[in-house]
Amino acid sequence: MMFFLRNRRVSTHQKSVIPSGTWRIFAEGGAEGSATAFRLSAALSFTLIFLAPLAAPAQAHFDGARAYEYAREFVGIGPRWPTSPGHAKAEAFLRDHFQRDHDQLEEDTFTADTPIGSVPMCNLIVRFPGTKPGIIVLGTHYETNYPLRNINFVGANDGGSTTGLLLGVADRLRDEAGHAPGKKLQGYSVWLVFFDGEEAIQSWSRSDSTYGSRHLAAKWGRDGTLNQIKAFLLADMIGDKDLDIQRESNSTGWLVSLVSDAAKKLGYQRYFFQQSMAVEDDHLPFVERGVPSIDIIDLDYGPNNSYHHTAQDTMDKISAHSLTIDGDVFMETIRLIDQR
Ligand SMILES: [Zn+2]
Repeated sequence: MMFFLRNRRVSTHQKSVIPSGTWRIFAEGGAEGSATAFRLSAALSFTLIFLAPLAAPAQAHFDGARAYEYAREFVGIGPRWPTSPGHAKAEAFLRDHFQRDHDQLEEDTFTADTPIGSVPMCNLIVRFPGTKPGIIVLGTHYETNYPLRNINFVGANDGGSTTGLLLGVADRLRDEAGHAPGKKLQGYSVWLVFFDGEEAIQSWSRSDSTYGSRHLAAKWGRDGTLNQIKAFLLADMIGDKDLDIQRESNSTGWLVSLVSDAAKKLGYQRYFFQQSMAVEDDHLPFVERGVPSIDIIDLDYGPNNSYHHTAQDTMDKISAHSLTIDGDVFMETIRLIDQR
């Protein structure tokens, strides 16, 4: 991602660590209340111990460590700007990964008309069919920035972290669908898209940027796919150790609320939407065609954003913990969209 406008809203970074209101009720009850609360909680624990084997297992956290490991392997390819050998390796990495797992992979190859002439590009689309008609699309870009080709820019956060995140989401979806051939997700189909050509080739403009998403949104507009998309969730630069995801103001209101609800439900609200800004990114071609879309992005990367688009964007700046938060919120958002 490149271009953004800051709308300075209230900048309150609450770093509250109280996980939930449960214990406050006990704490505020006074001595007598506490004794009652203790008896109640002991009785409750007793009941829960015996009911536990009958209850459905709690949903485990998203495996952010595994997503981080995917990102580390992927970023290890090195710079992957369009036309570079690293780009071909990045495509092959994703192709091999999904072929190995026998997923429904489509390679959407096209030629982009850029300031340096015609550039071959490739979006990768992985489909997980669901029982319900309709599609939820999760996207990221995977390539690195062409203008930064001489500074060993590896885009650990910018392109790498969210590629790892979606590889982790794919693992989770395979588990949920149940692995056997022909098995489906309970709910809408989920498609993962790895976009090429998000970054500008020369300098950011609407015609020199988001090549992959503009191509795919136009194609899906022509063949009717867009009408089936219930929501498009874009992930960009959210591997940052110091996670503070902004409320992106071109995004669709109800979808922003839903992601906010998911974050609150999981106790992650302090990482989400404390500031607001408008960002131009791969969601815009979908927003413009009326697809409910959100850009889930953290554009505050390093002191004064100094890691963004610099050789400083390396794996030590991102964390498995942030990817766990992202993955949990994406999976919960999918559930909330299914229930809508
Ligand atoms: Zn970028």
